[in-house]
This record gives sequence, C-alpha cells and structure tokens, in this order.
Amino acid sequence: MKRFELERAITENELILHYQPIVEVPSRRLTGVEALVRWKHPERGLVSPLEFIPEAETTGLIRRLTFWVLREALLQSNVWRRDGFPLTVAVNLSIDNLHDQHFRRFMELTLRVAGGPDLLIMEANSRALANDPDPPISILELMRAQGIRVTLDDATDEDAHLVEKLPVDIVKVSRALVSRMGRDHRALDYVRALVSAARGRSIEAIAVGVEDEATWDSIVELGFSGAQGYLIAAPMPPSQLSGWRAARV
Ligand code: C2E
Ligand code: MG
Repeated sequence: MKRFELERAITENELILHYQPIVEVPSRRLTGVEALVRWKHPERGLVSPLEFIPEAETTGLIRRLTFWVLREALLQSNVWRRDGFPLTVAVNLSIDNLHDQHFRRFMELTLRVAGGPDLLIMEANSRALANDPDPPISILELMRAQGIRVTLDDATDEDAHLVEKLPVDIVKVSRALVSRMGRDHRALDYVRALVSAARGRSIEAIAVGVEDEATWDSIVELGFSGAQGYLIAAPMPPSQLSGWRAARV
C-alpha cells in the first residue's frame, strides 16, 4: 500500500465509517455505537483498518485520518440526534494522535463544529498505552475535563493494573479474552480481574466480541454493563442502522 494511495483515500472520500451497536447489559437496549473505518478501494473493494492503520501511523497520515473519522462520526451523531435517537459514538484514536501537538486544538474546533462532547467517547488502545515510555495522561485528563468520555480499549490478560491507575471512564475487554473465557480458566480469571478493577473505580466494563448466548450469559453473570459483538450486530453502514434498530423492537 503506497502513501499516495492512502493520502488519496483521505482527500477523495474513499474512507467510510461503519458503526457497530453497543448495548446495555442485561437489557440489550441500544445505547451507542463504535465508529470503525474502512477503505472503499477502487480496485480492492472494502479494505480492513488492520491493513492500513499501521501504514497511516508510520507515514504520519494518521493525523488527517483521525480528523476525518472524528468529524464524520460527529456529523453522523448529529443526524441521529436530530432524528430523535441520540446515540453515543466511540472513535478509536491512535497513540500518535494523543502525542500530537495539534490534537488539542483540533479537538476543540471539532467540538465547536459538531455540537458538544456529551455523546462523544474516545478510545485509546491499552497495549499502546502500556508500552508508551511517556504515556499521554494529561491529554486523557483534558478530554475528560471537556466532558468527553475516555475508553481503555482492547484490555487483555494482565491489564487490570491499567484499569486501576489510568484516567478512564470505560474499559473494553478484548475480543481475544471474551471469546476464550468460556473454555479457558485463565482467560476467565483475567476477565474477572478487569471487571473487578473497573467496579472498584466506577468504570464501566464493556465486553467486545460477544458472539453467542452462552457468552452473553457469562457477561451478565460477571457484571459487565455493556456489550458489542456479532450476537447483537456486526458493524454496518449508517444507512442500515435505523432499519436494524426498528426491526428489533
Ligand atoms: P477495535 O477498536 O477493538 O474494534 C473492534 C473490532 O472487533 C472491529 O474490527 C469489529 O468489527 C470487531 N468485532 C466486534 N465484534 C466482533 C465479533 O463478535 N466477532 C468478530 N470476529 N469480530 C468482532 P475492525 O472493524 O476490523 O477494526 C479493527 C481495529 O482497527 C479496531 O479494533 C481498531 O483498533 C482499529 N480501527 C478501526 N477504526 C479505526 C479508526 O478510525 N482509527 C484508528 N486509529 N483505528 C481504528
Ligand atoms: Mg475500539
């Protein structure tokens, strides 16, 4: 994948967002969505973020990519709000964004254009934060001070200590752990430790990658407050979300 191609994707609107529903546990009430970027490549079709986010990070294009995602997600959130169903929208940040000198100003501008932080959630990857020699704690705190909720994303095995100390409102337990915990006692112990660390600080725990009813029953029992996964719905284009929502009730 070439830099100029990715640059073109950003400037010529080849990126799109899909939204995956996040529901309350145990009611299954829809509370929000996670915005997940895809690249509508003219030859290759829909390209996964796992294939181009790393490239965007190494080339520095991640700044523009994240700005695009954030703006697009907030505009969509406004449409839902206007249509009478406000949903929280969670956006994934790269650790590079959190270290970016311009990020703070951009965030303020975006909030002004897009109308308030109350429905916005920013997700930061737990691995990136754990491996960071100088973790960007002050920007996490700044976002929270502005009313944006912050998620520790993709928390896994031994990340309970991060839940105990980082300034976050939500922890998302990784699909890797959630999908293993039914048959692997160690995984189940890690999940318990994460949920218990979250409870100790009134942090909301969301299970990612819930694919079947047995896993759903476990997350209810474990005390999760939210969930996303194929059992509820896969990520979808915004045009499908209202139909999906209407069909459930
Ligand atoms: P993530 O933030 O952990 O997002 C959850 C991923 O798990 C999504 O993959 C979602 O489609 C997938 N998923 C959710 N439930 C299930 C399930 O039940 N089964 C299975 N098999 N998969 C499930 P996706 O969309 O491919 O995104 C992968 C990763 O790419 C994201 O992981 C996130 O780290 C990154 N990413 C996506 N969009 C953005 C973005 O706008 N900016 C940045 N920096 N990273 C992004
Ligand atoms: Mg995420």
